[in-house]
Amino acid sequence: MNSRNNEPRSISALDTALQSPAGVIINLDALESNYRYLCKHTGMTLMPVIKADAYGHGIVPCAQRLAAAGAGWFAVGTVAEAGLLRENGIGQRLVSLLGCLTAADIDLAINRKVIPFVGSFEQLAAISARSGNNQVKVALKFNTGMNRLGFSLSEMGELIQWLAQHPGVEPELAASHLASADENGGIEQTDNQIKTFKIIAEELRRNYPLIKTSLYNSAGLLAHAHKFKTDLARPGLALYGSNPLAGTDLNQPGTDTALKPVMQVWAPLVQKRLLRKGEGISYGATFIAPDDIHVAIVAVGYAQGFSRGLSGKAELNIRGVRCPVLGRVCMQLVAVNINDVPEAAEGERVWILGGPGARPISAAELSAWWGSIPYEVFCLLGSVNAREYS
Ligand SMILES: *Cc1c(COP(=O)(O)O)cnc(C)c1O
Repeated sequence: MNSRNNEPRSISALDTALQSPAGVIINLDALESNYRYLCKHTGMTLMPVIKADAYGHGIVPCAQRLAAAGAGWFAVGTVAEAGLLRENGIGQRLVSLLGCLTAADIDLAINRKVIPFVGSFEQLAAISARSGNNQVKVALKFNTGMNRLGFSLSEMGELIQWLAQHPGVEPELAASHLASADENGGIEQTDNQIKTFKIIAEELRRNYPLIKTSLYNSAGLLAHAHKFKTDLARPGLALYGSNPLAGTDLNQPGTDTALKPVMQVWAPLVQKRLLRKGEGISYGATFIAPDDIHVAIVAVGYAQGFSRGLSGKAELNIRGVRCPVLGRVCMQLVAVNINDVPEAAEGERVWILGGPGARPISAAELSAWWGSIPYEVFCLLGSVNAREYS
């Protein structure tokens, strides 16, 4: 337990976002559609994962929409995120994946009926010590191969004994997390994790017949959930419309098209210019024009989450036309080639993610140019720019 200050922590970088020239558009209908698709396609009860401000999509509006669509459980990151949901009228069962990191987290979890992940005897003891006369529900986290957090199978006997001696702490859920469910080469590891979790679930159920089980993330839900039935699946990425199996042969028929992107990001076109043959552009003049080029300067850069690593690599979407980035990405500006859409006008919206026409920019594409994954693209772009809901 660390003794970090007990002040509630802000979970959105609102000040930065308000100053950003770029904007994020969140389509809650698409979120609801993805939720309904995953429910129907998998037949499982979902506990939507809305940690880290719903992967940058905004935790409160996303939770409200998913609750209206029938979600009965949510998985948040910090206990503070769960507190924020309670303040905004979310009465659903809330599980904190990070669990209680401070004494204040424990008090908040108890007062606001949040179910924390607990993965060590130290954490159990800390919760028990502050529980008073309360009955505290916890989610037992098991390590089955991720080797990050959780009890191991070999601790099961001791765990069941501890729980028997502390009836104020009540195991509501048993969970584990898959390390390689989205990898072609990860099938053996995933199968081993499923096998271990099955043993854990069976042992726990002998003592706690009503305990619920949860194992599958998005990729696990779509590719592996038929191997062992659990009570609650925990999809995140797929709800936000990104295919967790893209580029793998684990891909499920239909998944690509059935999931709808939820986030789009735009920035304004600030100025147009003609770059003459032989002239360089942006810092370091890393791009030299081989011919005269129509260029647009767009107000987005690494301060808005458009990584400098995208220099000379990414494309932006203007009026449905792909426009390659020229030279280095700056702090708040980037240059693009608009030879294929020279009619683009100052002030109009240029799309960094999504956009109109037949070739919107997908999170998979943007993250590949970036050398990252869609998760990071969503978290960064969504948290530093102002969001708007449609
Ligand atoms: C983030 C997270 C998930 C969701 O993973 P996705 O790949 O986004 O579906 C599920 N479980 C745990 C423990 C997580 O941390």
